Amino acid sequence: MSPLHKIPFFDLHAQRQRLQPGLDQRIKGVLEHGAFIMGPEVAELELALAAYCGAQHCITCANGTDAITLVLMAHGIGPGDAVIVPAFTFAATAEAVAILGATPIFCDVDAESFNLSPTSLIEALALAKTHALTPRAVIPADLFGQPANYPEIEEIAHGANIVVIADAAQSFGATRDGRAVGTLAEITTTSFFPAKPFGCYGDGGAIFCDDEDIAMRLRSLRVHGKGTQKYDNVRVGMNSRLDTLQAAVLLSKLEVFGEEIVARNAIAECYTATLKANYQVPTVAANVGSVWAQYTLILDGPREPLVESLKKAGVPTAVYYPIPLSRQSAYAQFPSTVIDVSAYLSEHVLSLPMGPYLSQGHQDWVIEVLLQAE
Ligand SMILES: *Cc1c(COP(=O)(O)O)cnc(C)c1O
Repeated sequence: MSPLHKIPFFDLHAQRQRLQPGLDQRIKGVLEHGAFIMGPEVAELELALAAYCGAQHCITCANGTDAITLVLMAHGIGPGDAVIVPAFTFAATAEAVAILGATPIFCDVDAESFNLSPTSLIEALALAKTHALTPRAVIPADLFGQPANYPEIEEIAHGANIVVIADAAQSFGATRDGRAVGTLAEITTTSFFPAKPFGCYGDGGAIFCDDEDIAMRLRSLRVHGKGTQKYDNVRVGMNSRLDTLQAAVLLSKLEVFGEEIVARNAIAECYTATLKANYQVPTVAANVGSVWAQYTLILDGPREPLVESLKKAGVPTAVYYPIPLSRQSAYAQFPSTVIDVSAYLSEHVLSLPMGPYLSQGHQDWVIEVLLQAE
């Protein structure tokens, strides 16, 4: 078969059709009560998400980048401090560190999981010392929906007395050893950007933790550092609240999120079963439940000709991420360990159309085109 129309890389329309009219009702409710900032849906969502993952506290905020920034601020991280981040991730992971005047130190990732390599973390900690910086935190990013190796990372982090901040922008809903993302590290951030596995209709983010004191500080920091009285600011903060309308959208989407994760896994399994003889398919450890933010192949051959022939056949693809962060203009000044794996991956990865509403017909076509192109 051939597709009747272009296959969407990620399909938001099918989800919207499914969620109506409940979604419209939720949005209408906000328009009617008019509490657009910190309306009742925000607190309702925070309770629902904390319950969903089992964290004590959920603090929503304006986006996933702010979520990381707020956590660093809550820990008082700034100039003279080093924060270890993977070189193979979205810029936000390192940006939040640099914007506060702290120094991101880049480390390499694991070739199998695409996630932060614990051995490279040890090298990065040594690098902090040689730069006379105080290591304060490590931010593993759960790339493509698969949680990082938190048990090993945590052990190293405890030895170095640094905090583990899980950047779970791509992995909310995933599990490791039966535990949910949001509880795998002492503090976890996520993003509700529309294309993330759990996305809203604009920008949004959240932080999960069990520590009462940190949660209190985060709630203050996201509203200009407010004290118990609104116009008594006790610390320098940010304006970083989640819109009530976005909270309403997320509450509606939460109702089908579990089924969507099942659907994403079925699609990933179908890709793997049909492509593994011809392509290097992604691997997920047996103790991990991924939410498949992306389904990413590692190509042996040149990427561009394959991208072109897929495009001609109506199959969109994406490259996450084409340049390691430590080699980008804004970040090349910061220290980095050897990042051979990140460099290799950035030249060889290719992400395929993925989402809970990718139809069987469309997926069959993607597979057919890939097998013919090989
Ligand atoms: C999307 C993303 C972010 C940033 O989230 P925003 O909501 O867009 O600010 C941070 N880290 C990773 C790994 C991401 O994929």
